[in-house]
Formats: sequence, structure tokens, C-alpha cells
Amino acid sequence: MDNNLQIPQRILMGPGPSNVHPRVLEAMSRPMIGHLDPVFLEIMDENMKLLRHIFGTKNRLTLPISATGSAGMEATLCNLIEPDDDILICVNGVFGMRMSDIVDRCGGKLHTVEAPWGRIIDPQSVADKLKDVKPKLIAIVHAETSTGILQPLTEIAELAKAHDTLLVVDCVTSLCGTAVNLDELGIDAAYSGTQKCMSCPPGLSPVSFSDRAINTIHNRRTKVPSWYLDMGMISQYWGDDRAYHHTAPISMNYALNESLKIVCEEGLEARYNRHSLHSQALAEGLSTLGIERIAQEGFRTPMLTSVSVPNDVDEATVRSQLLHNYNIEIGGGLGAFKGKAWRIGLMGETCRKENVISLLTALGEILPKKSTNEAIQTAESVYNTN
Ligand SMILES: *Cc1c(COP(=O)(O)O)cnc(C)c1O
Repeated sequence: MDNNLQIPQRILMGPGPSNVHPRVLEAMSRPMIGHLDPVFLEIMDENMKLLRHIFGTKNRLTLPISATGSAGMEATLCNLIEPDDDILICVNGVFGMRMSDIVDRCGGKLHTVEAPWGRIIDPQSVADKLKDVKPKLIAIVHAETSTGILQPLTEIAELAKAHDTLLVVDCVTSLCGTAVNLDELGIDAAYSGTQKCMSCPPGLSPVSFSDRAINTIHNRRTKVPSWYLDMGMISQYWGDDRAYHHTAPISMNYALNESLKIVCEEGLEARYNRHSLHSQALAEGLSTLGIERIAQEGFRTPMLTSVSVPNDVDEATVRSQLLHNYNIEIGGGLGAFKGKAWRIGLMGETCRKENVISLLTALGEILPKKSTNEAIQTAESVYNTN
């Protein structure tokens, strides 16, 4: 009997995970060693160093939390928030909502600035809110994966600085796909996930805390409500003490190490340019098929293209045909976009011309009365002029 798992080879064009380079998969199959083995300690140190590079920071406290992106969100918020703290969350999609839920669970006093789905948070509305509340912390999502919005951060970072407020940024989808410069912007805490533009399997959540954020944690009146996500204990484990806290996922750290090396070999600028080029070719090809983007013009994420589903098709049926007949996964809409949108990811390894062409070809064949050739020609012309 064949006991091997049979896993199909998919093109992962959803909101994550993205396709993983064979070198990363191979790294995960290396021998198991102990989590205090000197060889593993070196990998931990190197992972921290490489993460500082991609986050654009010198922050000493930069490491991968042993869990997915949401754990990074929870770690960041629950270490910085204490009961009754005023907290300002910017909400224009699923992940702002998730942050708000965590603020409630930490006992913080939740204040929000909102924008409709598919639009950015207007810095002016944050400025207005800051006339009424003096929050300890402002949190905002950089690339809102539920809507396809890329949030400009400069003005909001200036507001946070002027009001002496900590700034927390969700970089789960943006990191390694578009510039994230924590130190340049003055971001105090950020978290990410490995399975989006880093093209590593899901399972680790890189986080980074500035000295100001670390001081805030040191000066807490109350214990961090989560034992597992207590950054004080986690930093002792990742620091010189190597004080046992939990067992770091060994193979996932091999994978992270390899994927960060692949990112560095390509170079961050080249990687950002690759994401913008292919997303432009995709969007213009889709437009030829009558599929238009729904996120606010001028503020669209390169790594996730959100589009309206044409009126004459059933969105779930098309996704199922793509998966079963073409091995292509794309995402459906969430929340306000449920049933109305597709979310097409071009993250990390997935972000390649052949995948753009495969999806345009498949959609041209599936959708009624559409021409694959025209869509591909349009995408090709983007490639030819860039
Ligand atoms: C994917 C994502 C998360 C959550 O990460 P998980 O790895 O699914 O826990 C948080 N924020 C954003 C913007 C995301 O895209």
C-alpha cells in the first residue's frame, strides 16, 4: 500500500500561502537537531539578522514568533496594551477588525477610525480623532489583504510621532513585496507572516519592536495576559540567555533561513519591482476580460489584486473550475466583499509571468464570450514596454 501523501502541484494565486521555492522545501527536510544545538543557535541568530534587513530596522528585538501572522498581531498588541489603555485601531477590512477584537480581549479601550472597504484610511480622519483621544497606541494595516489596499504610512507615522503615540503596523502581506522601512518611518512595532511575499510555508510570524516599544513593555503594571506570547520571555529565549521558553519549530526555521537567503539573492528593490510589474500585467489583462479592480485607484497593493466578479458568473463556480481544471487557486471575497470579489495573489515565488499568463488563459476559457488571446496580448504589451 502507498502511504505517501498525494498532494497536487497548485499555482497558489490566493491571499496566501504562496508557492514555495524547491530550495525551501528541501531545507525543511534536513535532519532534526535540538533547539539548543549550536548549529540551530546560529540559524536563529542569522534569521534575526536577515529579518532586520528585510524590515529595514536595527531593532535588536526582531525575531520570528513560533506561530502564524495572527500570533504576531496578538503578540504585538497584547504586550503593548494594558487594561483601560486608550487604543486607536484603523479599520478598513478584516485585519483591522481582528486587531480591534484583540484590543477588546486585552481590556483596552477601543477607539476606531474607519474607511469603507477598498479605500485607504484618510490620514486627516486620524488627525481629527487625535483631537478627541490621546491613545497609547495607533495600529494600522499596511497591505489589507481582504481588500487589496496599500495604505500610505508617512503622514500617519508623523501624526503618531507628534502625539507621542506608539505606532504598530501589520506588515503580513507587504513585507518582501513592497518597501517596509520601520526605522525610516519610525514604526514602533510590526509583525508579518512567512507565507505571503516571503514565500515560505505558514508557521512563523516575524515581529520587530523598537526600544520605545520595549520600554513600554518593561514598564507594564500588569503581566502580559498571554504566557506563550510574552515578549519578555521570548526575547530571553532568542537572546544570549537561551532561556528555555518553548521549543522553536526547527524545520520552519530552516525554511525561513532559506527563503530569506533567496530574498537577499534577488535583492529587495528587484523583488518590489517584480511585484509591481506582474501585478500591472495581470490587472490590464483582466481588464480585457471585463474584470476590473475594486480597490481605490492609486492605492492598490501589488501583491494582491482585488477585482469585481462579473455579473453573469457565479464566483464560487469559477474558483472551483480554476482549481479542479487548471490547478490554480484564487481567493474569494471576505466580509463586505463576500460573493462580489476575487482576490488574486501574486506573492513571492508565485509572482511570475507564466502564472499571470496561465490565469488569463484559464479565465478566458472559463468565462463566457471572452477572448484569451486579447488578454494575453494586453499582458504581453505591459511586459514589452517595461
Ligand atoms: C494573512 C494576514 C494575517 C494573518 O496571518 P495568518 O498567518 O493567517 O495568521 C494578518 N494580517 C494580514 C494583513 C494578512 O494578510
